[in-house]
Amino acid sequence: KVRAVYPDETVDSVCPFCGVGCLTKVSVKSGKIVQVEGRDGPANENRLCVKGRFGFDYVASPERLTKPLIRRDDAPKDQNIELNGSNYLDVFREATWDEALDRAAAGLQESYAAKGGAGISGFGSAKGSNEEAYLFQKLIRQGFGSNNVDHCTRLCHASSVAALMEGIGSGAVTAPFRAALDADCVIVIGARPEQNHPVTATYLKQAAKKGSKLVIMDPRHQGLMRHADHGLIFKPGTDVAMLNAMLNVIITEGLYDRQYIAAHVDGFEALKEKVSEFTPEAMAPVCGIDAQTLRDVARLYASSGKSIIFWGMGISQHVHSTDNVRCLIAMALITGHIGRPGTGLHPLRGQNNVQGASDAGLIPMVFPDYRSVEDPNIRAEFEDAWGRTLDPQRGLTVVEIMDDIIADGIEAMYVMGENPAMSDPDQHHARKALTTLKHLVVQDIFLTETAWHADVILPASAHAEKLGTYTNTNRQVQIGRPCVPLPGEARADWELLMELANRLDLDWTYSGVPEIYEEMRSHMPSLAHISWERLERDGTVTYPADADDTPGNEILFGDSFPTEDGRARIVPTDLVPPAELPDSDFPFVLTTGRMLEHWHTGAMTRRATVLDALEPEPVVSMHPKDIRAAGFTLGQQVTVETRRGAITLTLRADRDVSSGMLFMPFCFSEAPANFLTNPQLDPYGKIPEFKFCAARIAPAMAE
Ligand code: SF4
Repeated sequence: KVRAVYPDETVDSVCPFCGVGCLTKVSVKSGKIVQVEGRDGPANENRLCVKGRFGFDYVASPERLTKPLIRRDDAPKDQNIELNGSNYLDVFREATWDEALDRAAAGLQESYAAKGGAGISGFGSAKGSNEEAYLFQKLIRQGFGSNNVDHCTRLCHASSVAALMEGIGSGAVTAPFRAALDADCVIVIGARPEQNHPVTATYLKQAAKKGSKLVIMDPRHQGLMRHADHGLIFKPGTDVAMLNAMLNVIITEGLYDRQYIAAHVDGFEALKEKVSEFTPEAMAPVCGIDAQTLRDVARLYASSGKSIIFWGMGISQHVHSTDNVRCLIAMALITGHIGRPGTGLHPLRGQNNVQGASDAGLIPMVFPDYRSVEDPNIRAEFEDAWGRTLDPQRGLTVVEIMDDIIADGIEAMYVMGENPAMSDPDQHHARKALTTLKHLVVQDIFLTETAWHADVILPASAHAEKLGTYTNTNRQVQIGRPCVPLPGEARADWELLMELANRLDLDWTYSGVPEIYEEMRSHMPSLAHISWERLERDGTVTYPADADDTPGNEILFGDSFPTEDGRARIVPTDLVPPAELPDSDFPFVLTTGRMLEHWHTGAMTRRATVLDALEPEPVVSMHPKDIRAAGFTLGQQVTVETRRGAITLTLRADRDVSSGMLFMPFCFSEAPANFLTNPQLDPYGKIPEFKFCAARIAPAMAE
């Protein structure tokens, strides 16, 4: 039986989930969202995936936080408190807004008085808007003179940003993903767009159908390989071996672009010398791809008129992840496959605003627009604008902050919309850090696993309840609009930031989101010519734009790069093995990631009825051959263990998972995968090695 829906109103907005940035039309009836459809946005042309279309009712979940909460004096700070099935009202008591905000500010001030900026840290979020990201980093920097402010880009693409900034002077994509439609050759490496960027996957399939040669490279099989000319399933952790072998072929066979290199690129001779030892024959046994295939793919990429590379966290979540990206950059630079339609470098961004939050300065090393906190001239600009002396040292990153807490350094933290008690590696360590804090303020829409550790909880706004801008993976700045009212006493995030700032005597007087956007923009040359008024008028504008009335530049770096001398720089790489290799005690490679139906730590999608019905329980996936060899049965409970912990969950057969590997999504709070992951960091991007650690699996012990 089909039931017609007659909404009271429809609101034009943007999807709250992945970095694709699909524009949506949200239908509202009696103050609730009843339907979401795609709009004709530049990134989606009316398309939506299952998350965007069906993942909306988390907004009206009965689990929403509706009143400020303060931890009871006698409530223990147990590191697994939410896993122990506690009743939240035994742990927290409801409070008035004034009491909660006063308590939140006082705790932060106490730690600041004791230790200065070194005692304070803040985790903002790539789920929040640009304006929220800007205000959050401003609060930590201006209010506490600290650069210990970071967010989850540290856990996804920090290494991509590090390598891109070093190589081409810009941390964003050089071309939108629709550029694949103009390409002759499309490489997708370490990414699973059908699961994690589903609308992008539709364009990749379209590109393949119209004749682009599609190359998918991943340690796991994936559905997109059905559309590909080459599907390379390489051994996990061997990206540099495989990519250096391709660089070797391109150079030894003279397939590089001499003119382009002479005009635009430094470091070619050093690369040539370095990759001379990485012959396809030598690297084939290392990466598991035969030498002829390595040659074929290298020739295809280099010889095609227009080639483009997409990558995801399979590239960026390793201890050698910056090196992985350096190899991809080198491939594009020596072939001149950058700066023209159908060419470029595109790290597929994970969360809806991970690009924008990074651009807005939610990073410990840089102010908005990636301007160094260590540069005295830049710092002086912000000190003038904000009226306070600012920290001249770069701050600590996400995992470093957790380590510093345990080392008796940082003692207070403000978390807005992040969930480190699910997203950080080695959860025993991360949760111990959260319980060690003297003062933790959490601003969120749900009682997340992190919020259970808080001293003060501030109920905040869901995406569908607020106004704000979001920057997608294509550098398109788009407006998200309020569709439904805030529940109970929950408040807009920017208002809460301003309330706290004024309790720190910062004297903020913003009248609303447009004013915050314009202040942020005044510090961001990248947003020149993209006023709030223009966004209201045009709906979407790609940055950078050259004038108020011309479209933004989708393809970048045709003439030069935004480096000091305008030239790009190649950094040759060596083989660095994963930090923890399988052995006789832990014979499997465990890799973690996302699934189509659930998004990141699951705080939103696990509370979306349709999505949770599709994937309701934690699973570990294993190749059927390995299941048979181990004598397991499908659907049985198994325990997966690493050197950091063990969790019990359901066994699933999956032919996509290579023999010898285990795959686990990290969205299930009942069995958090990150109790198992390795916190070892890439030395440049400071990103943990989520994609590789040694594990073992056994039948679960009966209760
Ligand atoms: Fe939302 Fe991403 Fe799906 Fe588009 S592809 S509907 S942005 S989750």
